Amino acid sequence: SFRCRSAFKLLEIDDKFRVLRPGDAVVDCGAAPGAWSQVAVQRVNSAGTDPELPCGTVVGIDLLNIRPLEGAHFLSSHDVTDPVTHAKLLELLPNSQACVILSDMAPNASGFREMDHEKLILMCLSLLDLAERILQPGGSLLCKYWDGIYVQKLQEELLRVFGSVRTLKPHASRKDSSERYFLARLYRKPVK
Ligand code: SAM
Repeated sequence: SFRCRSAFKLLEIDDKFRVLRPGDAVVDCGAAPGAWSQVAVQRVNSAGTDPELPCGTVVGIDLLNIRPLEGAHFLSSHDVTDPVTHAKLLELLPNSQACVILSDMAPNASGFREMDHEKLILMCLSLLDLAERILQPGGSLLCKYWDGIYVQKLQEELLRVFGSVRTLKPHASRKDSSERYFLARLYRKPVK
């Protein structure tokens, strides 16, 4: 059983878009309590459950503590935006590269919708720095955001470095919430 209902959102997205393949290296940002990581472990075969398939890697990161999970490596009490975390990821990932970055991160909601929206957009933008360090060319990013005035800015930034960007609203996500996901695929490193 899953640690949290959020698992169903990732299952739904992955069933439709095949983001996670056996053998993939995945970084799960904002991973506590660990439901998305549970899905990722199954889909990339990182616990080696199916010996016929390549064995993937799952690394989960959260400010909070994450209970251990077979097939996953967790960086509890780590901030995704901290360079120290980036350095640890480089060591944990095979060839220092990830195929997929997942982010279901969310700030503690203040209750002020616009402020929370802006905060989450900034967190999503910081994932582009992380991508530059660890995401392999052709890789994917799936990130949660809350709808609002800065969404276009985020979408533009994603389109600069990804070949395709789509907006998703899984059925498992409450209809009355402003929660959405961007699925960005075909990463290319930015030219500087
Ligand atoms: N996807 C998770 C699951 O299925 O179990 C649920 C994630 S929960 C909605 C959002 C998480 O983001 C929280 O646990 C929170 O601590 C984490 N978070 C927020 N800001 C973060 C940051 N800067 N670095 C790491 N984790 C962060």
